[in-house]
Amino acid sequence: MEVRMNSNALKLITGDITKQTTEAIVNAANGTLLGGGGVDGAIHRAAGKELVAECKKIREEVLGGDDLPTGEAVITNGYNLPAKYVIHTVGPIWHGNTQNEEALLANCYKHSLQLAQEKGMTSISFPSISTGVYRFPIDLAARTALKTIIHFLQHHSFGQVVMTLFSPEDYRVYESALQQLLEKQ
Ligand code: ADP
Repeated sequence: MEVRMNSNALKLITGDITKQTTEAIVNAANGTLLGGGGVDGAIHRAAGKELVAECKKIREEVLGGDDLPTGEAVITNGYNLPAKYVIHTVGPIWHGNTQNEEALLANCYKHSLQLAQEKGMTSISFPSISTGVYRFPIDLAARTALKTIIHFLQHHSFGQVVMTLFSPEDYRVYESALQQLLEKQ
C-alpha cells in the first residue's frame, strides 16, 4: 500500500529490513547499542562487525558510556547493508501504558525522521519498533507510528518512508490502521 502526502510517499511493505535499499534503515536497538535479538540482531549480522564497533564508539564518545535513552536516535554507517546508514533508536518496553510508552514510541519515529532529514536523506525504512520482545501491542503501535510519520510528512518535504513489516499479519494491522487514519483526515 502506498499513499502520497505533499511531495512525499508513505509505503507499507512486507519484508526483511536488512534487504531494503532506502538510504537509511532504522534499528529497534536496545539502550546499550551493542546488539541484541530480533531485528537488531539481524541488522548487526547483515552489516558486519564494523557496525558494533561504531556503536561502541558512539556509546563511549557521544553518550559518555551511558545507554541511549528511550525515544532517542543516533546514526551510523550501514557497512555491508544495502542501506548507506543505520539509525538506531530505542523503543519503549510495554508496561501497560503506565510509563508514557505511546509518547516514547512516537519519539522514536519523530527523532529518526528528524535525524534522516538533518543528514539530507530522502528515504528511510522502519521496522515495527517495540512490537517484538518489548511487547508493545501492535495495533496501538501501528496507530502511533503512522500518526507520527503522517504528521512529519505533512509538515516536511522529505521523500519516501517505508514501513517494513516482517509478517503478513503485521502488514494487515498497519494497513488497516493507515486506512482508518486516512479516513479521519
Ligand atoms: P523490540 O525489542 O523493539 O520489540 P524486536 O526486534 O523484538 O524489537 O521486534 C520488532 C519487530 O521487528 C517485530 O515485529 C519483529 O517481527 C520484526 N523483525 C524481526 N526481524 C526483522 C527483519 N529482519 N526485518 C524487519 N522486521 C523484523
